[in-house]
Amino acid sequence: MCFRPPTTQKPIKCGECGAINPANLKVCTKCQTKLEKEENI
Ligand SMILES: [Zn+2]
Repeated sequence: MCFRPPTTQKPIKCGECGAINPANLKVCTKCQTKLEKEENI
């Protein structure tokens, strides 16, 4: 079991290159693609 504080944001995985980006970023650090949060995968 991993303890996660409720304030921790989940990293966003880039849909283009698959790079993991911090949740506070709006574009991928690797390919500059706009990151979108998708809850329903
Ligand atoms: Zn990317």
